[in-house]
Amino acid sequence: MRRKIVAGNWKMNKDLQQGMNLVEEVLSLSSPEDVLKIFAAPFIHITSAIEKVKGKNDYAVAAQNCHHLECGAYTGEVSAEMISSAGAGYVIIGHSERRNYFNETTSVLTQKVNIALANNLIPIFCVGENLEHRNANQHLEIVRQQLKEALYHLSAADFSRLIIAYEPVWAIGTGVTATSHQAQGMHNFIRSEINKKYGKEISENTSVLYGGSCNAENAKELFSCLDVDGGLVGGASLKAADFVAIANSF
Ligand code: PEP
Repeated sequence: MRRKIVAGNWKMNKDLQQGMNLVEEVLSLSSPEDVLKIFAAPFIHITSAIEKVKGKNDYAVAAQNCHHLECGAYTGEVSAEMISSAGAGYVIIGHSERRNYFNETTSVLTQKVNIALANNLIPIFCVGENLEHRNANQHLEIVRQQLKEALYHLSAADFSRLIIAYEPVWAIGTGVTATSHQAQGMHNFIRSEINKKYGKEISENTSVLYGGSCNAENAKELFSCLDVDGGLVGGASLKAADFVAIANSF
C-alpha cells in the first residue's frame, strides 16, 4: 500500500533556531501516525532536525538537493553520501526552481537520482509543466517526457523506491492551485504511465504527491482525489499550524 506523505520544502528560509522551533512545534501538535511528515530542511539544519525526529517513525528529514557526483573538488557542494551519513532519508530532485535557476538538465537529474539511490536516499522526484505548456494542452506530454528521460533507465526495484511529486510550475508559490480535477487528471496519468513501464503493482504502490500552493484550506479537496497521496508543500510548511493542518487533511 502506498504511503500518505506531507513533505515541507522550506527552501532557503529559517535560521537554525527558527527551523528547530518549527520542527518542535510540529511535533507538539497532533497529526495522524499513518501520514509521514517530512521536513526538507536546508543542508545546514539537517543534523539538528534529525536529532529532533529520532525514534519517531512518522517523521523524517530530507535534503532539498544533492550533487550529482560522488565526491571531489566541487567547492560548496554537498554529496548524497554526506546527506545520508547525516541520517536524512530523502532528497528532493528535479524541483522546478533547481531546473530553472540552476540549469539542472535531464542528464544531471538522472545522475542525481542514481547517486541518491546508491546512497540509500529516497528521491522525491518533481515533474510538472509550465503555464505555456498547460495552455497549449501539452502538459501530459511534458510530464511523460520528464518521467521517461530521467527515470526510465531505473530497474523496477529502484523505481519502486521513488516518490513522485507533481508540481505544475504555474502553481508554485503563486497562490494559484491546480483544481482537484486537474490534479487528479495528472496524477492518474502519471500512475498509468508508471503502470505501462513498470506494471500495476509498482504503479499502485508509488506515492504521487501534489505540490503548488497547497495549503490548509485546499489540502482536503486535493487529498480526497484517488491518485493524490499527499503534498509537497512550500510556503505553507513554514508555519507549524498550517503544515499540521495539511497533514490532518486526509
Ligand atoms: C514547492 O516549492 O515545492 C511548492 C510546492 O511551493 P508552494 O507550496 O509555496 O507553492
